[in-house]
Amino acid sequence: MNQAKNVASTTDSDIVVMKFGGSSVADNNKLKNVASRVIDHYDAGKKVVVVVSAQGDTTDDLLEKAAQVNPNPSKREMDVLLSTGEQISMSLLAMTLENMGKNAVSITGWQAGIKTEDKYSNARIISIDVSRIMQELNNNKIVIVAGFQGINSIGDITTLGRGGSDTTAVALACELKAEFCEIYTDVDGVYTTDPRIVPNAKKLTDISYDEMLELASLGANVLHNRSVELAMKYNLPIKVLSSFERISGTIVKEMNQVEKLVVRGVARDNNTSRISVIGVPDEPGEAFQIFDTLAKANINVDLIIQSVGQNHSKNVSFTVAKSDRAEAIKLLEPMVEKLGALKVNYNDDVSKVSIVGAGMVANCGVAAAAFKALSDASINIKMIATSEIKISVLVDEKDGEGAVKALHNAFIEE
Ligand code: ADP
Ligand code: ASP
Ligand code: MG
Repeated sequence: MNQAKNVASTTDSDIVVMKFGGSSVADNNKLKNVASRVIDHYDAGKKVVVVVSAQGDTTDDLLEKAAQVNPNPSKREMDVLLSTGEQISMSLLAMTLENMGKNAVSITGWQAGIKTEDKYSNARIISIDVSRIMQELNNNKIVIVAGFQGINSIGDITTLGRGGSDTTAVALACELKAEFCEIYTDVDGVYTTDPRIVPNAKKLTDISYDEMLELASLGANVLHNRSVELAMKYNLPIKVLSSFERISGTIVKEMNQVEKLVVRGVARDNNTSRISVIGVPDEPGEAFQIFDTLAKANINVDLIIQSVGQNHSKNVSFTVAKSDRAEAIKLLEPMVEKLGALKVNYNDDVSKVSIVGAGMVANCGVAAAAFKALSDASINIKMIATSEIKISVLVDEKDGEGAVKALHNAFIEE
């Protein structure tokens, strides 16, 4: 994202950006609750920008509607359709506020000046021209912006990827030089793992950008990973708060802990598929051909393992997002002959489970303890990947929940 054209050069502590997720705006009573949270800031003299997601399961319902008329719709038309969900919420919230006697205006992504890359369905924000928002704020309006959407260089509507309203909010907070961004959701903060899987997960008072970025990228959907990436770049604190309870939440911020915790959180990602290319000749250049083909199609590859070559052949396995699996297979199957491989297969019923902690780098034995916890729970590991601050394992989807519980129990509840 480029620098703003049109805002104050220092932090503007008068501007507050609040984002409300789908379950927080799901019905009329919830909209009233959101409106009252917004009015609290407005009546305290703040300039308030509100970002909203689509109501409840609207985005999933729209995906389902599309599938009924075309099993393989173009990404452009999908973005036109999905962007309507947020437009319903924004107008209903503006009307609710009007009915409560407040001046509010709702605007779409393009009206809010949000420009994105040309690609559809998962576009990044390139720049934001906040002049329209500033004009409305200066007229004492509460400005409600549709989350998850922008406009590309040819004037088409684009969307930012599932969960992308968080990124709209953080990007606006950065451009408007707000002091922080508030993300209101259906949990009261970031926990050591998804509290819906592990009820005794612990709420974190604060968490570093690095750790939150890993957790979000590895499946903790409480924050969209790009929102954390942006907040880190601009050093903007994110407050994760409950829409329903007025209690303190979690602050995501720059942290220089003296003693870094070995494991801060556990994440699970079910949106992953394993692909294997079997019987690849044990020769240079084969992996390059496979991954170059996927990269050119913008398919992101995650965990990779290559078996040791035996009898001049090896297997190359990797994971991709479930939504990319069909395209990856379509690209790789015709290459089997050219590669001199035997076949390509895949498995969608897998889960990636990860432990994250900035202190992992300085502690040996973390991997061994993780594998022991999984072995004690009789969970078979299919793939492993590590970095300085995380260890990820791929397991059968049916074992995903058990793996989260076993790792949480071993590292956090000890
Ligand atoms: P919203 O619609 O408000 O954007 P999301 O469903 O995208 O809400 O994100 C909130 C959900 O994230 C929670 O209901 C919870 O189940 C899930 N979640 C996953 N990991 C975590 C975690 N570590 N801490 C808190 N919530 C988590
Ligand atoms: N409505 C979109 C989704 O369901 C964006 C969001 O909620 O952040 O993914
Ligand atoms: Mg979300």
